[in-house]
Amino acid sequence: MLDKLSSALKKVTDKIANAIFLDKAVVDSVVKELQRALIEADVNVKLVLEISNKIKQTALDERLQGLDKKEHIIKILHDELIAILGESREIKLQKQNVFLLVGLYGSGKTTTISKLAAYYGKRGHNLLPIGLDVHRPAAPEQLKQLCDKLNIPCFINKEEKNPIKIFNEFKDELKKYELVIIDSAGRDALSDDLIKEIKDISKLTKPTETFLVMTADIGQTAKKQAQAFKDACNITGVIITKMDSTAKAGGALTACAEVKAPVVFIGTGEKPQDLETFDPEAFLSRLLGMGDLKSLMEKIHSVVDKDKIAEQQKRLEEGKFTLDDFASQLDSMSQVGSMDKIMSMIPGLGNVKEKITDDMMQQQENKTKHWKAAIKSMTKAEKENPELLEKQTSRIQRIAKGSGTTTSDIRMLIKQFRMLNEMIKSQSQIAEKGLDQKTMMKFAKKFGRKMKF
Ligand code: GDP
Ligand code: MG
Repeated sequence: MLDKLSSALKKVTDKIANAIFLDKAVVDSVVKELQRALIEADVNVKLVLEISNKIKQTALDERLQGLDKKEHIIKILHDELIAILGESREIKLQKQNVFLLVGLYGSGKTTTISKLAAYYGKRGHNLLPIGLDVHRPAAPEQLKQLCDKLNIPCFINKEEKNPIKIFNEFKDELKKYELVIIDSAGRDALSDDLIKEIKDISKLTKPTETFLVMTADIGQTAKKQAQAFKDACNITGVIITKMDSTAKAGGALTACAEVKAPVVFIGTGEKPQDLETFDPEAFLSRLLGMGDLKSLMEKIHSVVDKDKIAEQQKRLEEGKFTLDDFASQLDSMSQVGSMDKIMSMIPGLGNVKEKITDDMMQQQENKTKHWKAAIKSMTKAEKENPELLEKQTSRIQRIAKGSGTTTSDIRMLIKQFRMLNEMIKSQSQIAEKGLDQKTMMKFAKKFGRKMKF
């Protein structure tokens, strides 16, 4: 269910959590990814733009720095997504309950009745479905077969063509049940005679809940349908079916929130057990693959060391990037496991990264092990001023010996460090101008080749 959106959202939150420097280039790429994922899930473009703008504003708010900023962005992303999913509404059973299910043809009313029967039956409620769909000849039999499978009794009358009469026929019997679930007939569209029929049934049966059943695959069109049913009948909740079989589910969910028709259940398959209560918070947690917002925040904290980042950030802003910083970058890299992390940490380099093969990565990882050892063997003066090494070959020999590396390893390290330094300086220019295709290619050419990634 919404797998693509889920993996995209996870990627977006990971990117925010892992990014050491959240500058315009990173934010733009994260927002773009988010937009693509939401629009693909059929979320209204206007809503998507609103979310994007809020995230951008927070991200580029200079009063926020480092970790605070990350927390704000994640929180905004979380809150905005919750907001577009709408309010949750828990169905609380009373002493006597009547659920009336309404909706168009094929929306899943009858199937959903079997799901509700399984759901409440499992929770020990004494319940009974009743078939008032007199338009489709096969409808009563379909309901009966579904109930038989669940060993639940149900009331149908295949001969009678008046739903009011069927209900009256069983009226006294129904009083014995705690929950009566009514199946009604649909139409191809919300027509006057459907409205009249629902109103008549409603007047007679006095439902405690009237659920509109809609399929997720209609996407944003759900808005119009939910609004129309809401205006015509007293809808207390929406059940969205076929969440399992469409990528447009984001459209249907958010559309209901827009017309303030709370989604109460979602159908995720054809079987009786494929029903879930809908709670935006829990739904989003699952999409994000997190328990809750708190664990999301904890994740940010666990990935980065607050003080270290603040310090690095400051030095970078001042255009200072020392071999010590380089070493700690290499450290955090091996923590996360692979070389491509450092590439994605450097704004604007995410794209260059794609041109790098795994083989090159592996080589680079081996190299970085040597580099880390070498940097450890340097004196403070050497780390702060690598030119010392270039001036005196004896220093290079000493470091190579001390760290079990070769002098060419050290020379390569200094070269790469210089390159990285230059990159970091030019990244501020990229952040300012944005990274268009041409600049990116130039960048990739200049650094990508030389760095032998
Ligand atoms: P009704 O006309 O509104 O009563 O719709 P039905 O209950 O007869 O369902 C129409 C079709 O949709 C049937 O083939 C169901 O098996 C299918 N269906 C209903 N709910 C779901 C769902 O959540 N997921 C999937 N994949 N199919 C569903
Ligand atoms: Mg039906």
